[in-house]
Amino acid sequence: MSKRKIALVGVGKIAVDQHIPALAASPDWELAAAVSRNNTVDGVPNYTDMSEMLAAHPEIDTVSLCMPPVPRFSYAREALLAGRHVMLEKPPGATLSEVHALEALATEKGLSLYASWHSRQAAFVQAAKAWLKDKTLTRFTVTWKESVRKWHPGQDWVFEPGGMGIFDPGINALSIVTEILPDPIHLREATLYVPANCQTPIATEMAFTHPNGAACSASMEWDHDGEDIWDIEAETEQGVLKLEKGGGAMLIDGVAQDGSHGGLDGEYPSLYAEMARLVATGARDVDLSPMRHVSDAMTLGRRESRPAFNW
Ligand code: NAP
Repeated sequence: MSKRKIALVGVGKIAVDQHIPALAASPDWELAAAVSRNNTVDGVPNYTDMSEMLAAHPEIDTVSLCMPPVPRFSYAREALLAGRHVMLEKPPGATLSEVHALEALATEKGLSLYASWHSRQAAFVQAAKAWLKDKTLTRFTVTWKESVRKWHPGQDWVFEPGGMGIFDPGINALSIVTEILPDPIHLREATLYVPANCQTPIATEMAFTHPNGAACSASMEWDHDGEDIWDIEAETEQGVLKLEKGGGAMLIDGVAQDGSHGGLDGEYPSLYAEMARLVATGARDVDLSPMRHVSDAMTLGRRESRPAFNW
């Protein structure tokens, strides 16, 4: 079977690190064009303008948008209006409303729209969900600590409005939380630590209300030295589940489960396999529940100042 043709738009860190390798190895997709104002991708036609690419390549029926959330809406809208299926990097937009608008447009046009959450594709997310399904939760803790200097070197947009600050990585944790917890939780209170020269928080503490009273909290820090900590721990009346390494490893009552190597290499190949399935079946997948928690924190959170942040 011939591969579907896809174009990549926004060739920055994540496109180079993950999207291009995942597409090169994909049994479903052929990377058929790239759009970048500053970069090129070897072996494919390169454009600096998405409109030109769309006009020149009617055979490309899908675009994958890899730019930061704020500029993404106008690209997604234009691609949908041009009759293309669209895959969105996380977070899917700068606001909930603009993603609702994209979903409505995709529905009206009969096109696929995928608000992708790469962390949901981590090796043990589905196993954790299955284990938690029939357990009685008593406590749930997210600890998400990494270095913005390591993962977003010099990317000032993360501290501008819409860049989401600590929630840029923290939403990965929230995408796992909203996938694995059998009952929905909602934010009760949050503290947002905002550097004096930034528009977005660099750290947060969050507390959630659980329908059965389980104590649910998240602690996230972006100015973290040392190893990344991407842990989620669920205490239940029947035992303790811990996801480590962003869902790449899982322990039950302290015992590492088989295959807990911690690698996250499978995430983007899985995302593109899922996009292929959505396009083939004419489906859409736009789950905004991780982003709702971020929006709630920005609405309800108490601001505390931190010293100015310098790269
Ligand atoms: P980035 O390298 O700063 O930006 C990606 C590309 O977006 C840039 O190279 C640029 O493409 C394009 N871009 C930036 N500003 C733009 C604007 N105003 N208008 C149009 N295009 C613009 O960011 P990134 O780290 O790849 O992150 C992009 C998205 O991927 C974010 O939503 C992020 O959360 C997500 N993500 C990042 C990582 C990571 O480790 N960095 C991991 C997972 C997901 P051109 O120069 O090619 O035009």
